[in-house]
Amino acid sequence: MVEFCPECGSLLRKTISNGKTYLACRCGFKKPIIIDDKKKRKKIEEKKKALEKNLIVVNPEDKISVNLIVNRICPKCKYSKAETWQEQTRSADEPSTTFFRCLKCKNTWREY
Ligand SMILES: [Zn+2]
Ligand SMILES: [Zn+2]
Repeated sequence: MVEFCPECGSLLRKTISNGKTYLACRCGFKKPIIIDDKKKRKKIEEKKKALEKNLIVVNPEDKISVNLIVNRICPKCKYSKAETWQEQTRSADEPSTTFFRCLKCKNTWREY
């Protein structure tokens, strides 16, 4: 970014004094450079990161299953962990059916 002195029209040079950056002219004109660009970018990045975190939290795949996890060998892929739940099938006087769903391949089967 090139800036010219409003007083004399000369090219302003970047100078650092007392730890602050100025655009200074040989005529004595001086104006501080506001370097919030980096900070701004950092803030945006932080926001983005926070957003990403939130996205992971709301991802339904990451939701803790309400079903119980048990050790059951999946008949399809032989994975040893499955979630289980019970469902009342036909009529209320019949025993409920226990369902299993493989945590790996999502294969669902039932046991009576
Ligand atoms: Zn000047
Ligand atoms: Zn499986």
